[in-house]
Amino acid sequence: MGYVITIDGPAASGKSSVSRELSKKLGVPWVSTGAFYRGLAYVAQQLKTDLDNPVALSELCFSSFWKIVLTSENTQVWFEGKNVTDKTSHEDVGNIASKISHFPEVRQSLLDHQRNCAVENIGLIAEGRDCGTVVFPRAEAKIYLTARSADRATRRAQELGLDKSVLEAQQKQRDIQDSTRKVAPMQVPDEALVIDTSELSLDDVVGKAYQFIQQKLK
Ligand code: C5P
Repeated sequence: MGYVITIDGPAASGKSSVSRELSKKLGVPWVSTGAFYRGLAYVAQQLKTDLDNPVALSELCFSSFWKIVLTSENTQVWFEGKNVTDKTSHEDVGNIASKISHFPEVRQSLLDHQRNCAVENIGLIAEGRDCGTVVFPRAEAKIYLTARSADRATRRAQELGLDKSVLEAQQKQRDIQDSTRKVAPMQVPDEALVIDTSELSLDDVVGKAYQFIQQKLK
């Protein structure tokens, strides 16, 4: 029987790293639902779609110009036959993703694509902002990762080779937008295990999450 595990939390709280490791340990695929929003943001930019037009944006969700591909390492965005995942990881694409993600039409259009990542009998680890609340409200185990904003900015600055203070300001702005929007705001799902990763190593976080999942699956 497949099962779904959700991992939500703010920008750069470690969701992808933890999901990747849990996926290896449990032998279950994982998806970054943020890749759908980043992919849409990037493709809309390339095709010069009006970023203020929710109807045009939601039509783009069903376009064959782009697709999402799940691998054990990351969730990839492909556009016009090319892997553009690296281009979508920039913070400016994240910011556009955050802006267009507040449109209910866009969220609704991406929902089935995200849910379809959970293949029957195999299960899924899904990470994002609303995975435990909206995408998979009946998930077997829900986790919420958080960390001090300075620590999150340091981590992402190291990954991307960027200035920490600029990144911290951008992430704060994105977290405010994501947690205050009307539809599917980022929030701690009921019954979620909350892990503050500020003082923990990746191994420690994965260990705590793994233990919690084992208890939930008993
Ligand atoms: O997780 P990531 O930083 O890649 O997400 C980019 C943006 O996509 C977030 O800031 C958020 O606005 C949006 N997002 C969302 N719901 C999700 C995942 C991401 O609204 N489940």
